[in-house]
Amino acid sequence: MRTLIRGGTVFDGFDVLGKRDILIEGELIKEVGTLDVRADIEIDARDLFVMPGMVDAHFHFGGSKGGDLVKATLVEDSKVRLLRATTWASKIVEAGFTTVRDCGEPNAIPLRQAVKEGWIKGPNIIAAGRPLSQTFGHGEFLHTIPLEWNEYLGFAQICDGKESCIQAARRVLREGSDFIKIMATGGVLSQRDRPEWPQFTHEEISAIVHEAKKVGTYVAAHAHGDEGARIAVEAGVKSIEHGSLLSEQTLKMMAEKGVALTPTLSIQELIYKHGKQIGVSEWGLEKIAQIRENVPKVIDTAKRFGITILAGTDLGFESGLEIDVGKNYTEPILLVEIGALKEIEALRAATSNIRKLGAKTGVIAKGEVADIVVIDGDPTTQIRDLSKAKFVVKRGKLVKG
Ligand SMILES: [Zn+2]
Ligand SMILES: [Zn+2]
Repeated sequence: MRTLIRGGTVFDGFDVLGKRDILIEGELIKEVGTLDVRADIEIDARDLFVMPGMVDAHFHFGGSKGGDLVKATLVEDSKVRLLRATTWASKIVEAGFTTVRDCGEPNAIPLRQAVKEGWIKGPNIIAAGRPLSQTFGHGEFLHTIPLEWNEYLGFAQICDGKESCIQAARRVLREGSDFIKIMATGGVLSQRDRPEWPQFTHEEISAIVHEAKKVGTYVAAHAHGDEGARIAVEAGVKSIEHGSLLSEQTLKMMAEKGVALTPTLSIQELIYKHGKQIGVSEWGLEKIAQIRENVPKVIDTAKRFGITILAGTDLGFESGLEIDVGKNYTEPILLVEIGALKEIEALRAATSNIRKLGAKTGVIAKGEVADIVVIDGDPTTQIRDLSKAKFVVKRGKLVKG
């Protein structure tokens, strides 16, 4: 099966190449250039913008509705949430996202298989499975219910101390995690911990990193506060998620060690602007204001230091608003509008930058996997045009258009 995308303005994941034809054979890009060939499917892209399929580098296939995660998780059967998450998968791929890195949600593991086997439409999923959290950590949404309930409900694998962390890492890898997600500081939506509080010790995180490395993968750390982030970076994690309160010193260390940053502006703006309306808890509303202010400065410094910035929404529930599942392009848009990235930098954040974490997608070139989105617009000048996906090709197959 051959597909030809003819004459579009091509952004290859790094820069705009100009008008090119792209020939796809099987799952791969066979040729990029001015091509005199025929194919089984031809897409006329002459007035369109062609770029790698986008990547949401921080998402949760939670499958719930509304921002009250405790209620959603306790009141609704987890199977209903999984079924709802299947509809998210199709919306997301149709929006032009061919890869999603799920940063902590058991649903992502079966969903990954369903998509891979082709009986559910969706993006390629890189799944963390259950995140690892310390006792009294961000992995527990509620600190007033029995600790075991948090594990039972799938929020997190709780572990404390080196031995326990080693075992927890092995358990989630056994469950099918592609990488390991840890909670290295308190968070916004967890009940009683503070975003600036460090969680896990250097020894604990090092032990988890060691287990990840043994199976050829890495650790991603949720971290708002500077101290927890610094400990995680020193212990060898490969990405800092959120990073809201990072100091220049920690960012410098991230740059030196090649640690990526995912600012997650979509969830931040959704909770800040509409939190009350969508049922976010009182503690969440109070904490979001505290972490939000510093974020543009963090992104600016990260950019200056040459840190790899990833576009990750951190969405994990349906909001019914302008920032929502299926509108994951909100993140590169906000990276421009709030993070002051140039459009081309935001496009890289949503495509080729994920390769820093080993994912083989996000680039249009000969021999690469054919994950491609054709946009009716020009996001290099109008970033909001990212919402106009017209054709989507995933692993060489036309999934939209
Ligand atoms: Zn987080
Ligand atoms: Zn998250």
